[in-house]
Amino acid sequence: MTQKQNLLNLNQADLSEFFAKLGEKPFRTKQLMKWIYKDHVFDFDQMLNLSKKLRETLSEVACIDFPEVVSKNHALDGVVKWVIEMGSDNHIEMVYIPEKDRGTLCISSQVGCALACTFCSTGYQGFNRNLSTAEIMAQVLIANLHLKSSGKRISNVVFMGMGEPMLNEEAVYSACDLLLDDLAFGLSRRKVTISSSGVVPALLRMSERVPVSLAISLHAPTDELRDVLVPINKKYPIKELMKACDVYLNAGKQERHILFEYVMLKDINDSNEHAQQLAKLLKGVSAKVNLIPFNSFPQSDYQVSSARTIEKFQNVLFSQGIRTMTRRTRGEDVDAACGQLAGKIKDKTKRSDARRN
Ligand code: SAH
Ligand code: SF4
Repeated sequence: MTQKQNLLNLNQADLSEFFAKLGEKPFRTKQLMKWIYKDHVFDFDQMLNLSKKLRETLSEVACIDFPEVVSKNHALDGVVKWVIEMGSDNHIEMVYIPEKDRGTLCISSQVGCALACTFCSTGYQGFNRNLSTAEIMAQVLIANLHLKSSGKRISNVVFMGMGEPMLNEEAVYSACDLLLDDLAFGLSRRKVTISSSGVVPALLRMSERVPVSLAISLHAPTDELRDVLVPINKKYPIKELMKACDVYLNAGKQERHILFEYVMLKDINDSNEHAQQLAKLLKGVSAKVNLIPFNSFPQSDYQVSSARTIEKFQNVLFSQGIRTMTRRTRGEDVDAACGQLAGKIKDKTKRSDARRN
């Protein structure tokens, strides 16, 4: 028997093609997307504006399948963390961060990560596999269903959970299509952010393919240091990365900017000189810098820079005219802070497969 098509894998164009193959009219796409993404009805039998025959056919050839939620934890500051089972005892994590004027959902794109950044807990866990579009969309639907009942909403979605989204391009692009699609989540392009550690060829494709916001995990102003912290830098050094950033900034019709993430590591990348070098690197780039206090985890020897050091670093950037903010650490009591998302990765041996690009 051929496998059933999980409809959460299909963006609007794919769904139209799917219905055309079944000999159905194009308006079926709209009907089905409304059931799934607006009404949250996932049982074909309840989709009463579809003909009985179509409902039967869909039950035979398609499904709307969700992964299982293993646990859901509420931190004292309102952050919610879900652990989701992705088969074969592999878990991924997702975090909701409420703020006064918005609610950000931080989702995962891979089970683990192959890139092994030395300050990142996910990196230490190794890599198992890419998530499908359905597994990415299911995260947003699961969170949406849960939050709706408590009157909260998701205004922003960021690919800053587990994994490197630019090593899982197709699934992430289709997911972005659905996040932006008015028939699905209808978020504005500024409210969906792909965060990448700098997979240059993929970033060049991404610039053309999806009009979403971009965050770059920079973390060091020189190749010498970035080679150590973000090892993919050895393959795609800072100069190439900045060229790719330039392509992104000049693609599309609307004005764009890039958020540069910079984790603050005591005595590693937090000196006055580093700040000066960073300011020089970003001069003339439409950039905003996000300083992230390092969150520790058991396997790491790094320490977080002091609040005073972070402030001094920020002031150097300010003095050079660079927009900078310091990320407040959230959800620590449930291990939901940046870089603490470790999940539980069964087979950690697949790093080299994933890094090929
Ligand atoms: N792979 C992508 C997206 C996931 S990581 C990327 O690297 O951009 C999301 C963000 O969390 C990145 O900026 C990453 O550098 C940061 N991060 C990872 N480990 C961290 C830690 N221990 N403390 C603080 N931030 C961390
Ligand atoms: Fe992967 Fe991002 Fe962690 Fe680096 S920081 S190991 S790219 S998840």
